[in-house]
Amino acid sequence: QVKKAILRDTEKIVAESESFRSKVTIAEDNLKTAGKRIKKLEEEIEKVKEASAIDPLTEVYNRGYFNRKLQESIDYFIRYGGKTSFLMLDIDHFKHFNDTYGHQVGDKVLHTVASLIKQNSRKTDFIFRYGGEEFSAILPNTNLKDGKELSELLRIGVQKHVFKYKGKPVSVNISLGVTLFKQGDSMEKCIGRADKALYQAKANGRNRVEVMY
Ligand code: GH3
Ligand code: MG
Ligand code: MG
Repeated sequence: QVKKAILRDTEKIVAESESFRSKVTIAEDNLKTAGKRIKKLEEEIEKVKEASAIDPLTEVYNRGYFNRKLQESIDYFIRYGGKTSFLMLDIDHFKHFNDTYGHQVGDKVLHTVASLIKQNSRKTDFIFRYGGEEFSAILPNTNLKDGKELSELLRIGVQKHVFKYKGKPVSVNISLGVTLFKQGDSMEKCIGRADKALYQAKANGRNRVEVMY
């Protein structure tokens, strides 16, 4: 009688442990699936985050990201020093260009100018659409001389590019203002200097680079 009872209990324990084991396996599978879903969601969040920082027309960083990145770069500079150039760039007589060739052609030019800036700058530079037909760039580890040289490169890159309208070449030029991060800088001060240099470039005849320290 006792033997039979022990055998019954043992069988019951074995069955329970098997059922428990299969439950654990299911739970493990669910955990794996959940882990994969979380990873996918994290990747999607990253993509959305990145897309929200990009200007759709020109495919460079937008103004929202510019505001964050410039402040972050100035904070970093104030803490660690080094040389960082900052430039502002504006397409010359773009209103006239739009009036002559149409807004849609103007949009294509904006995209091409942005591509040329990307092509002619370093991988480590940050390019932004500041607004309208104005762009800006943060150039880390770049002194004012090199910042000016890069600006010249960008200017010549746009000047030399053959833009076409109905098969005929049309010229597009840009003006640039360059400055360097300074101790005690704020975003306003830094943008103000680059903007002043850009204004000088416009006043001095356009299609040129001016520096303001
Ligand atoms: P300046 O040489 O002094 O910079 O002259 P400008 O004509 O370029 O300057 P202004 O500020 O008078 O005009 C800017 C023009 O840029 C007017 C506007 O139609 C054009 N623009 C701004 N944003 C866009 C855009 O997204 N697409 C197009 N096609 N044009 C734009
Ligand atoms: Mg402008
Ligand atoms: Mg302009």
